[in-house]
Amino acid sequence: MSTMKCFLDMDGVLTDFVRAMCERHRVVNPYDDPKNYGNYNMAELLGMNHGEFWFPAEHHQFWAAMNWMPDGREILEFVEETFGEENVCLFTDPSQSGTSASGKMNWVNRLIPRYNGRLLIGKPKAFCAHAGVVLIDDRDENVDQFNEAGGQAILVPRPWNRLHDLSKYTKYPAVSWINVALAHSQCLGVKEHTDGQET
Ligand SMILES: [Mg+2]
Repeated sequence: MSTMKCFLDMDGVLTDFVRAMCERHRVVNPYDDPKNYGNYNMAELLGMNHGEFWFPAEHHQFWAAMNWMPDGREILEFVEETFGEENVCLFTDPSQSGTSASGKMNWVNRLIPRYNGRLLIGKPKAFCAHAGVVLIDDRDENVDQFNEAGGQAILVPRPWNRLHDLSKYTKYPAVSWINVALAHSQCLGVKEHTDGQET
């Protein structure tokens, strides 16, 4: 079992922020169109200004009622198996609305209450970067900043980041990628899960 600590992002990794936004705005998911792959700026893709885009997210319930990503539970389970549940901490960036933080706390309390005491809410993720910790996140910028600050970060393949192409080729793409990325990183003690086969 690893002695590394893992920070696990919520929006776009565990929770389906994009789907929630599309439903509230009553728009088609812009990431259904391959020409939008790799563009994290969803407001720009929807032709909205900052205020228009974030308006639905000003409500506590937007965050509290958010659905899991289709592979969110699987990612959480894999990360817990890899690092040990006690070494995993949720780490999420709130929106500018205060209701975001309370809504996220409510979501965790409702769906994975064992993380009530292992939940960090804050924007500057790179401030927590140091040797011995891994950040798993879906935002290119967060991953780059965390790596530059001395931590190790793994980008989860999603249509809105630079690993968008990876998500098309495997049955469980995000978990597969995290597994491979961890195995090939400098995370001592973390071994690739190979179903008993040597690689
Ligand atoms: Mg995220």
